[in-house]
Amino acid sequence: MLPQPDEIIYDRRRKRLMVQVMPGGKVVLKVPLGTSRRQISNFLEQHSGWITQKKAHMARVSPPAQAHRFVEGELLWLAGRQYPLHLADKGPKALVFKKGQGFFLASSEQKNGAERLKAYYREYTRRAVTAIAERYANKWGLQLKSIRITGAKKRWGSCSQQNSLNFSLRLAMVPPEALEYVVVHELAHTRHHDHSRVFWTYLGQMLPGYETQRSWLKQNGLKLPDF
Ligand SMILES: [Zn+2]
Repeated sequence: MLPQPDEIIYDRRRKRLMVQVMPGGKVVLKVPLGTSRRQISNFLEQHSGWITQKKAHMARVSPPAQAHRFVEGELLWLAGRQYPLHLADKGPKALVFKKGQGFFLASSEQKNGAERLKAYYREYTRRAVTAIAERYANKWGLQLKSIRITGAKKRWGSCSQQNSLNFSLRLAMVPPEALEYVVVHELAHTRHHDHSRVFWTYLGQMLPGYETQRSWLKQNGLKLPDF
């Protein structure tokens, strides 16, 4: 049976037909303006194998979460949980988190919500990462040069040849155990700068059971919102 597109986009600037399968399994066909039904069905026929295969794969990939809008009551992530955002006329200029209540921000700062949230996440991540890195570095006699918090979207952390560690501020969103795993992972790279068997064995000694956190990040990392 011919795979059916969920959406056909006619594009004046487009010269060739193209098919995309989005996370979640939606099939999008992009075609030049004036493409006939026959051309479309021929194209689908030619690519039916690829589409079916890709669809099966992408159906298991969750669509990326929506970007934040910073409206009253919107849920924001912190340490693996979601808390409501409260906007108030006389609220704080910088985003503030109160235990048991959630996030607070001045209504006038709503337009800067993304910046305010990033600043909060950056500080939170810096504090959490530094404490964990110090604890494990002392215990395992490891030396690191510096810790930097970045806005990286696709990488949780990295370790340079000079043992400078980078961590994404997005780590503020994940459960503390997952954050700990990323820190220990990068710290282990100060001894083994690769992903060899020796590296994973060493990491397993530093943090037994790390596999659980690793797969949590793989499964849920992309579902966390963008901002
Ligand atoms: Zn690594």
